[in-house]
Amino acid sequence: MRIWAVANQKGGVGKTTTVVTLGGLLAERGKRVLVVDLDPHGSLTSWFGLDPDTVQRSVFGLFQNQGRVPEGLPASLVTETGCPGLSLMPASTALATLERRLVGAEGMGLIISRALAQLWDDFDYVILDNTPSLGVLMVNALAAAQHLVIPVQTEFLAIKGLERMLHTLQMIMRSQKNALPYTIVPTLFDRRTQASVKSLNLLRKTYGDSLWRFAIPVDTKFRDASQAGVVPSALDTQTHGVRAYTHLLNDLLAHSEIPRERRHG
Ligand code: ADP
Ligand code: MG
Repeated sequence: MRIWAVANQKGGVGKTTTVVTLGGLLAERGKRVLVVDLDPHGSLTSWFGLDPDTVQRSVFGLFQNQGRVPEGLPASLVTETGCPGLSLMPASTALATLERRLVGAEGMGLIISRALAQLWDDFDYVILDNTPSLGVLMVNALAAAQHLVIPVQTEFLAIKGLERMLHTLQMIMRSQKNALPYTIVPTLFDRRTQASVKSLNLLRKTYGDSLWRFAIPVDTKFRDASQAGVVPSALDTQTHGVRAYTHLLNDLLAHSEIPRERRHG
């Protein structure tokens, strides 16, 4: 199993779109993929037609057992998405109540790791979608992940947010043994605007090696897809956004590290 987290402490940068598209493309290649919604807003959950206000079985269930993960619980929270090979562990809005909980208490930071350890033989890839706020949920995602994808909108304010994210990452990694490899992915790139072009250049200059070599373009198909609850498909060759995500996926597969040992099982 390979576990990727998609995170940035800024909203609206394309995190959820990245999770759905990478997940869909992997599933289309015959992989068994689980996407996990760790955002109390539940955009990923809504994408697949579930209502995070009323959903019964969600990630929230994992956090109600004093840091333990009862055998069989994670599997019971997984639902099908209608897209073959792609499964979802939904978020409920109740997750928002966790943000004030202490990470250190009762092994609260390792719950997602432990839950995924139970699903080790069931999925080839797990992609974790994240909330912008740094709390127990994001700490869980960063502890569980083997690779971090940081989407960054190609505009100046978003680059400030990136610095905050990288600082957070360093802070969290200091308390763990292994550094978490990451890839910064420029998103919502519009080659016709100065702001996009200039900020992409700035990103290249500042983050060279950690920056993905291309950018995800603005493509209205993504907004349509999320509203229609459709998973973007590689077969949709008209969609230049999906073509870009296909390159990204290939690069992540080529560059992402040998998986770390199964941990926290
Ligand atoms: P986040 O999860 O970071 O908040 P989303 O993936 O929900 O970001 O994207 C925010 C908005 O931008 C959504 O309306 C989404 O449909 C749209 N969007 C995301 N990526 C693109 C893109 N490459 N081109 C056009 N619109 C996009
Ligand atoms: Mg989102």
